[in-house]
Amino acid sequence: MPIKIIYLDHAATTPLNKEVFDEMMPFFEKAYGNASSIHMLGRESKKAVEISRERIAKAIGCSEREIYFTGSGSEADNWAIKGAATALKNKGRHIITSVIEHHAVLHVCQYLEKEGFDVTYLPVDQYGMISLDELKMAIREDTILISIMFANNEIGTLQPIDEIGRIAHEKEICFHTDAVQAIGSLSIDVNKLNIDMMSISAHKFYGPKGVGALYIRKGLKISPFIHGGAQERKRRGGTENIPGIVGMGKALEIAVGDMDKNIETLTSLRDNTIKKIIEGIPYVRLNGHWEKRLPGNINFSFQFVEGESILLMLDRLGIAASSGSACASGSLDPSHVLLAMGLSHEMAHGSVRFSLGIENTQDEMDYLVENLQTIIERLRQLSPLYNAK
Ligand SMILES: *Cc1c(COP(=O)(O)O)cnc(C)c1O
Repeated sequence: MPIKIIYLDHAATTPLNKEVFDEMMPFFEKAYGNASSIHMLGRESKKAVEISRERIAKAIGCSEREIYFTGSGSEADNWAIKGAATALKNKGRHIITSVIEHHAVLHVCQYLEKEGFDVTYLPVDQYGMISLDELKMAIREDTILISIMFANNEIGTLQPIDEIGRIAHEKEICFHTDAVQAIGSLSIDVNKLNIDMMSISAHKFYGPKGVGALYIRKGLKISPFIHGGAQERKRRGGTENIPGIVGMGKALEIAVGDMDKNIETLTSLRDNTIKKIIEGIPYVRLNGHWEKRLPGNINFSFQFVEGESILLMLDRLGIAASSGSACASGSLDPSHVLLAMGLSHEMAHGSVRFSLGIENTQDEMDYLVENLQTIIERLRQLSPLYNAK
């Protein structure tokens, strides 16, 4: 690589922490036992899984018996929603979610609609926030599940999870939250917040890819997700990903330990950068909420230009970011989140997300803003929309 990478795509994935890697290594090399085996190697793996489970439980304030390992955050979302729908379908068939959920939630809900469930997709305001009144009004006799994300992956907006939890609890409706973006960045206590199920994923907090977990409150009715062996209390069969599980526990422990310091550093980097972009570049819009926002999230629309073009030019400078288009899926559809907030197609197409991480510095951010100014200016010069404005 000719130039140093400035990585500003932590919402997509984070680099693996070296300490986490070191803790995982022995489970690739010497400690390869199957956690279900009786012998010494098996017991060693089993013990490592249980230590990780305790670490995760401690981080979110639950019992280790309420943590279930999965293969990803997407799997945890799928399990929570399909599992609750299947287990509770005789009680009711109505689910409430929001229009800005991750596709791992939205597409499951759409699938369930085809299976005869009824789903209410709550709208959001211009900041990407749901309305509690609309939530209350959407609740029906046959509502069995409310699934609202903790923090949005594109715009960083934080939902009023404590109030949503209180409402769900009062009405005795199961409450699931996709906390994949929030966990490790913000302090979460599942009991204080009345959360019944919560999805997390290790690779978003400096842990390994391909491992996640679902917190399931004790006593909750939910169907098993993978039928097979007796792993995960017979609810999610399959030989455990021991190195991954070990890595997730260690990564979350580190994230919680460093949380206050990280929140302070990232919030200040974020707000400085937002200010510099607004001061230095005309015709921009900050997407998302100004205060109720993930510490590391910056999302701007740059009028008259395409987010994709900005990304390509940043990439040539070694700056890695993401746009508001679903380019991952090969299409260039504008983001469902930005459209739901009322942005025009043009503004949605002009969006770029910079998601900051703990290794980023003020120098890097200054380098970004300097180059962004030049790039936007150059692209606008070529833009017929800009010249016709
Ligand atoms: C990344 C992400 C997921 C999916 O997690 P994976 O482990 O990558 O499957 C789900 N929800 C949100 C909000 C995410 O940011």
